Amino acid sequence: MARRKKIYEGKAKILYEGPEPGTLVQYFKDDATAFNAQKKDVIEGKGVLNNRLSEFFMLGLANIGVPTHFLKRLNMREQLVRACEIVPLEIIVRNFAAGSLSTRLGIEEGTPLPRPIVEYCYKDDKLGDPLVTEEHIAAFGWASQQDMDDILALALRVNDYLSGLMYGVGIKLVDFKIEIGRVYDGDYQRLIVADEISPDSCRLWDLETGEKLDKDVFRRDLGSLTDAYTEVARRLGVMPKQATPMDKPKLIN
Ligand code: 5GP
Repeated sequence: MARRKKIYEGKAKILYEGPEPGTLVQYFKDDATAFNAQKKDVIEGKGVLNNRLSEFFMLGLANIGVPTHFLKRLNMREQLVRACEIVPLEIIVRNFAAGSLSTRLGIEEGTPLPRPIVEYCYKDDKLGDPLVTEEHIAAFGWASQQDMDDILALALRVNDYLSGLMYGVGIKLVDFKIEIGRVYDGDYQRLIVADEISPDSCRLWDLETGEKLDKDVFRRDLGSLTDAYTEVARRLGVMPKQATPMDKPKLIN
């Protein structure tokens, strides 16, 4: 049997060549990293949960007309996605102060922000994904002004969708990161939401208790990461069919 071609391996995912031109297979690993990979572990079941959660969010976005790279889930750890050219930016949207914003500006974690704040980081692991301004983005040609207008609109739509969805299951969407890809339809370029949306890339706090249900559980050693992600999946109804509500998802490689 021929081995499939690995296109790219990141910290939490692997991209393989897809079955048709213009497609890729996105494989979710169990590896967890934080602080630019200075902290590392393998969390059994994380990849399975993120695969299902990312599928759920991307399908929801498609249903409200936000284009994404997601085509279909293939199995417990893999999904078929549209190949795209990733814009070299991490787009962060914040509703409440936390993480690097709190550190940078001295604002207490949990403080509501007067309006959603959108930040851009240049995607470069060696540099630790530094915060950049639209001036840098324009000057270095990472995205055009039209792209930036579209990216801002996409980021705010994702924020509205995810905030409402989470609020409905008793979770506060503190902040999140997305990545954007370019696809070409003939002479036209379109921007789509790419990569993943999962508790690895969001801050999710229980509305009543403030309990953290996201990757900060790993970053800050607050308990079991799979328990936290399973709780998010359970509340959203994202569970394998065979599981009863109180069961954890069955982990199959
Ligand atoms: P902060 O800038 O406060 O560290 O992160 C803001 C938000 O973006 C958090 O929800 C965090 O999980 C997400 N985020 C920022 N950088 C990355 C990254 O490199 N990988 C992932 N998965 N999420 C990130």
